[in-house]
Amino acid sequence: METKGPLPLSLATGREGSEGKGGDATVAIVWACRIPVEEYVGAGRSVVVPRPDCVICQRAMMFWSGYERSVRVGERDYRLWVRRARCRPCGRSVGLVPSFCLVGRLYGVEVVGGALAAVLSGGCSLGVVADRLKAAYTTVREWLRRFRRRAAMLAAGFAALVVEIGGVAPRLPEEVGRAALAAIGWVWLAARLRAGRAVGSCWSVASLVTGGGLLAATRDTPWIVLGKRRWIPPVP
Ligand SMILES: [Zn+2]
Repeated sequence: METKGPLPLSLATGREGSEGKGGDATVAIVWACRIPVEEYVGAGRSVVVPRPDCVICQRAMMFWSGYERSVRVGERDYRLWVRRARCRPCGRSVGLVPSFCLVGRLYGVEVVGGALAAVLSGGCSLGVVADRLKAAYTTVREWLRRFRRRAAMLAAGFAALVVEIGGVAPRLPEEVGRAALAAIGWVWLAARLRAGRAVGSCWSVASLVTGGGLLAATRDTPWIVLGKRRWIPPVP
């Protein structure tokens, strides 16, 4: 079971398993998953995943086995089957990670994004957020650290993407963490205006655009494919 064709707002690379709990170390592509985690897990190995084109040679990849990984949503851990795709001509293989996940991270993107927003914009303390999530204080603190470290790049990249997909350049808060949050929100709004509800949630869009690397340790610039075109954001 599969759907074909270009993904509307998706494809970016990250590496599974290189930071924290996840699957094995594999290059990953995040795809726009419209179904909730329960439904995804319920579908087991027959979950419907779009078949991507190879990012090197642009040829259609073929499905090629997969691997298991966990994702924590709410207080539950789910075991997921992540399909893998392989490009025959260039031998490259990628894990196809659904957009409710972050690459190489146990916690789902809604949980992480909600925590970031609660601290940076909602004025909640790290302790309160960690208690609410029943997560370790150090885990939430690390999310904030990672996000703040990448915030200037995320703010610039997402703000440029707003314009790229037809919105008006947003005016962002001065504080860099809040600016990144706001820019992510503006991309989501612009994408919703263009494509409607099919865009999915704000944080799943953030996972898509960053290739699951919202909190990545690397300095790699996230990039996405808009229609058939690869788009690389400016680096501040
Ligand atoms: Zn290829």
